[in-house]
Amino acid sequence: MHVLVNAAVSADGKLSSRRRKQIPISGDDDFARVDRLRAEVDGIVVGIGTVLADDPSLVRHDEVRRRDRRGSNVEPPARIVADSRSRTPSNADVLVGDSTTYILTSEAAPPERRDTLREAGATLVVAGSDRVDLVEAFELLEDDGIERLLIEGGGELIFSLFESELVDELAVYVGSVVFGGRNAPTLVDGEGFTSAFPNLQLSDVERLDSGVVLSWTVL
Ligand code: NAP
Repeated sequence: MHVLVNAAVSADGKLSSRRRKQIPISGDDDFARVDRLRAEVDGIVVGIGTVLADDPSLVRHDEVRRRDRRGSNVEPPARIVADSRSRTPSNADVLVGDSTTYILTSEAAPPERRDTLREAGATLVVAGSDRVDLVEAFELLEDDGIERLLIEGGGELIFSLFESELVDELAVYVGSVVFGGRNAPTLVDGEGFTSAFPNLQLSDVERLDSGVVLSWTVL
């Protein structure tokens, strides 16, 4: 399994404002870069916090246009939500469309919620008793042929992935805007590290739109 984390942050490292709703940080050139990343992976992962805040569809920005123009049959990546209690709304955009949607959930998820999501077309992966065990869940995804994952946030999920030593690469678009706010989500939230901080090696720096993309490999 290869895991790339990609997100856009303000100049002060926030994923969003304290209102925790999606705010455009990059621009068209960065959207095209993200589309290229999405085209190279088998699955795109977000946490339930991001689904509830932004209702993302997790399809490529160019996918609809491409289908309209050429009727392309390229298999889209699976959409994957880390959602311990199966709180994903059954009308969420992540469940709309043809590509497979996995809900990574835990044994703590109420059976009726799991049934509702299955009826809405999701494939459920149960791993962990109270919270999604990401290591086990990713192994189960691998058994389903998913080898490359793109993680698109948010900060709670990204912390757990670093904590579980699951991240191979990190790419961050840093935009030319300041959000501020001690309660605004940052790139890596969770409890935070006090020791054994993950170390990174800078692999690329690219100016894009009015910001910069920083790429690291995780040591
Ligand atoms: P998040 O990371 O998307 O989701 C966190 C939730 O995932 C947890 O509360 C937990 O809920 C669930 N989860 C399941 N298993 C987990 C595990 N092992 N470890 C951690 N979480 C697990 O939510 P967030 O940190 O609140 O981020 C949402 C914010 O980020 C929004 O404001 C959104 O707009 C922003 N965002 C920005 C970008 C960007 O690129 N700028 C990208 C994405 C999101 P359960 O316990 O119920 O499962």
